[in-house]
Amino acid sequence: MPEHHLPEPIDLELILLGTGTSTGVPVLACDCAICRSEDPRDKRLRTSALIRVNGHTYVFDSGPDFRTQLIREQVNDLDAILFTHAHRDHIAGLDDVRAFNYVLNKTIHIYASQEVEQSIRNEFPYIFRDDGYFGRPRIDIHTLHNEPFDLDGITVFPILVKHHLLDVFGYRIGELGYITDASSIEEEEIEKLKGCKVLVINALRKSRHISHFSTEEAFALIAQINPEVAIITHMSHFIGKHEDLFHEFPPRVLPGYDGMRLQISGSKVKLLPPTWY
Ligand SMILES: [Zn+2]
Ligand SMILES: [Zn+2]
Ligand SMILES: [Zn+2]
Repeated sequence: MPEHHLPEPIDLELILLGTGTSTGVPVLACDCAICRSEDPRDKRLRTSALIRVNGHTYVFDSGPDFRTQLIREQVNDLDAILFTHAHRDHIAGLDDVRAFNYVLNKTIHIYASQEVEQSIRNEFPYIFRDDGYFGRPRIDIHTLHNEPFDLDGITVFPILVKHHLLDVFGYRIGELGYITDASSIEEEEIEKLKGCKVLVINALRKSRHISHFSTEEAFALIAQINPEVAIITHMSHFIGKHEDLFHEFPPRVLPGYDGMRLQISGSKVKLLPPTWY
């Protein structure tokens, strides 16, 4: 990455809104030990995360659990959604931005690739119909390319990853890297993650999968990027119980859980207790 494009340190708060794969955990109708676990950290809504920077609130994706997640975390403001890709577990909750439209009289900014924008147009056609209907979400779409962009004065670096054959955008903001639904990443994109203090990255399960990293693949990438702390997300019930993962994972690699919060300020990374605790 060219020198003048290097991410600057930015103070931010991160909340994992959901850490589950597309089915969520527990999986409907499954009675495996993980799905029956009473540990709240084994209950995983669909993957999404929230960040607060300079008084602004942003989320990565708005999946089917979007509303439930924002209520749980008592989120009462939102400025933008940064989409990763258009699978339903990442976009299905978009309609719920209407509350912010009505209550706060705010238009929500959407950052999406042309491909994701097309899916949003297909899935939510009423948003774009010019028929005077008052009840549709008010959004302002910004087209995402694989180049840094300004978000209320901070620079966001998109990171192109592959989800089997599908293009997905991860993000680097200050010292945070956020990657979900990746199964491979090109070297030049990995470069953009170097120097990040906190890396959130997907691993579906221990065994290999065509469109998601396994834990082993994610650990190899984490070792290469070498963040201060890495957090695993987008987990399926096959991965195991949170408590066991916590002990099995390598040093400085944590299994994420819904409601996990941390703060990056100055040179420090601090884990905060979850709001539900
Ligand atoms: Zn997904
Ligand atoms: Zn299960
Ligand atoms: Zn996906």
